[in-house]
Amino acid sequence: MSRWCAGALAAALLFGAWAPARADLFRPSREDQVKLGQRAAEQVRKKEKVLPGDDPHVVLLRRLADRILRQLPEKDRSPWRFSFDVIESKEINAFALPGGPVFFYTGLLRKLSTEDQVAAVLAHEITHATHQHWASAYADNQKRRLGLVAVLALLRANRAAFDVASVADDLLFTLPYSRRHETEADMVGYDLMTAAGFNPQGMVEVFDLLRRATAGGKPPEFLSTHPDDAARIRRIQDRIARDRRSFPAQTPLPWQPEELKPKSAK
Ligand SMILES: [Zn+2]
Repeated sequence: MSRWCAGALAAALLFGAWAPARADLFRPSREDQVKLGQRAAEQVRKKEKVLPGDDPHVVLLRRLADRILRQLPEKDRSPWRFSFDVIESKEINAFALPGGPVFFYTGLLRKLSTEDQVAAVLAHEITHATHQHWASAYADNQKRRLGLVAVLALLRANRAAFDVASVADDLLFTLPYSRRHETEADMVGYDLMTAAGFNPQGMVEVFDLLRRATAGGKPPEFLSTHPDDAARIRRIQDRIARDRRSFPAQTPLPWQPEELKPKSAK
C-alpha cells in the first residue's frame, strides 16, 4: 500500500469514526434553541406591531393552540417555551422561531375562514419547533459555510463549536427549511390537528387558498420550499382518504374576514 493510499485510508477511517458526532457538532442544544427563540421573539415584539393579549384574534389563536399543544407527546413537550402572537401586517404568513414562539400575521388570518384552517397552520408551525427544524437547518448551514476541512479540524480539536451569542440575528429569521422538514411539519401537523379534533380538510384548503393568494409573489413560509404545491395538497388529500376516522364539520371563525383588515395608518 502506497503512503498516499494509507493516508487516504486512515483519513477515511477517521472520518467514518467521526461521522456520527459530526451530525451534532453545530446543532444548538434544545436549551440553546429556547434561548435563541426568546431572543428573536423579543426582537419581533420590538419591531412589529404585535396585538395585545385581549385582542379577539389573539384570544382565538391561543385557544386553538392550547388544544393542539395538549396533544403533543411527552417527548415533544419540554423544554420548549411556546407563545402565540399576532402581528398586524398585510403579509400573508406565519412563522415559528426556535424553541416555540409562533407568530401569525393578520394578513394570513384575514384570508382564513375556519378554525380548522388556522389549526392546520398552527400544527405545522408547532412541529417545526418540536422537531428542531431550525437547529438542523442551522447545523447544515454552518457545515456548508465552513467546509469539510474546517469541520474535521474542529472535531480533532474536540471543541464545542456552538455558542448562543455567536448566532447572527439574520440566521434566526432567514434560514430556509428543507423540503423534508416541510413534509414532516405537514404530516406530524396532520396527526396533531386531527388528534385535537380538527377537520384535516382545513389543511387542504389552507394550502390551496395560500397558493392562489400568493401566486406570482413571494410564497409564505410553509410554501416556500415546495415547488410542487399540487403534489403536497394531493398527499394530504390521500391521507384523508385513507384515514378511517370521521371528522367533525369545520368551525367557522367567529368574525367576518373583512374585519381583520389592518387599520389604515394615519
Ligand atoms: Zn413550514
